[in-house]
Amino acid sequence: MVKIGVPKETYPGETRVAIIPANVQQFKKIGAEVIIESGAGEKAGFTDAEYLEKGAQVVKTRKEVFENADVILQVRALGANPEMGKKDIALMREGQILIGFMEPFFAKDLVEEVAKKGVISFALELLPRTSRAQSMDVLSSMATISGYKAVLLAASHLPKMFPMLTTAAGTVLPANVFVIGAGVAGLQAIATARRLGAVVKAYDIRPATKQEVESLGAKFVELGLESQEAEDKGGYARDMGEEFYRKQREMLTKVVAESDVVISTAAVPGKKAPILITEDMVKNMKPGSVIVDLAAERGGNCELTKPGEVIEKYGVTIIGPVNVPATVPYHASQMYSKNITNFCMLFIKNGEININLNDDILSSTLLTKDGKLTNPIFD
Ligand code: NAD
Repeated sequence: MVKIGVPKETYPGETRVAIIPANVQQFKKIGAEVIIESGAGEKAGFTDAEYLEKGAQVVKTRKEVFENADVILQVRALGANPEMGKKDIALMREGQILIGFMEPFFAKDLVEEVAKKGVISFALELLPRTSRAQSMDVLSSMATISGYKAVLLAASHLPKMFPMLTTAAGTVLPANVFVIGAGVAGLQAIATARRLGAVVKAYDIRPATKQEVESLGAKFVELGLESQEAEDKGGYARDMGEEFYRKQREMLTKVVAESDVVISTAAVPGKKAPILITEDMVKNMKPGSVIVDLAAERGGNCELTKPGEVIEKYGVTIIGPVNVPATVPYHASQMYSKNITNFCMLFIKNGEININLNDDILSSTLLTKDGKLTNPIFD
């Protein structure tokens, strides 16, 4: 029987849990038992009693989880929880497997430390965006939640309503929403804003997104800058360089000024987010307008964003939310748990662990093994 350990999340403000009770049985079927720290699911709405009922073992301390488990599943490990993630390394042993978000691009020192311990670690940020990996794609799951929540944040700060209403008191015009970056979060933001009745425009440098934006009933803003070269072979945007971003800002100025709400999600993996909204562009927006900068954790797409804060400048509210999925912990945990369970099914079968590195999903997420850093991101 393989033992799966689920410690309580320790990052400040983290409310999610890596495994929810509904997935415990799925582990049973592959010959694995879930050992969970008491209270780990509480903030997400899952009680110890529910885990017990599904056949999990509930233990009192974090130490017991680490001591007994072959595989540790977390939402935030290593670089995604730098202070406590470092302390957890002391609880780990050679050959133990660690899986979760790890922010590997920004925490090489912690990755080196866990490698020295002989831990086999998999960073879920590095999952390939292929159809086979879709059922494990935690990035898409969490981005879906962020895109949805960004619109609700915007709507609750905007001094206007989103839908057009024709009433006895006159006509209320719909809000104009502009979404920058039409990846998973951006597309969900478009869909949510449309459901609330806003008029939505969107922009992305990857030309493939035009059709996706239009299929959701939004208008794609053509800047003439989009090109195939903006997309790498993994489907992600490339870093286009400062001159490109300068041109892009110039061309975005008018549409930003006309919008009541700007939701920005533009990101380049492993890099700081590009600045696409300058202070001058904010000055040109109408008073009462709202910017929700989903790139806040990566430095922000707006020059004025303060990560984790809501500020007002030139009459514009600028929201820099961090860890947005943790504000919807029930469904964020449900999706994360299903994804990570599917990931475990790649290497646990009939009660045994077998890591086949010819599997591209395992090889591309593997960070450390046999005391070494194995991932090409460190080359
Ligand atoms: P992301 O979070 O890395 O970036 C968000 C968006 O910002 C991307 O669409 C990117 O193109 C855009 N962006 C970057 N720089 C920009 C700029 N200067 N101006 C405007 N937009 C800019 O991306 P993501 O949401 O994780 O999605 C990455 C890709 O993976 C997409 O192509 C997505 O469709 C694809 N994907 C594929 C699968 C699958 O097939 N299994 C699953 C999920 C996502």
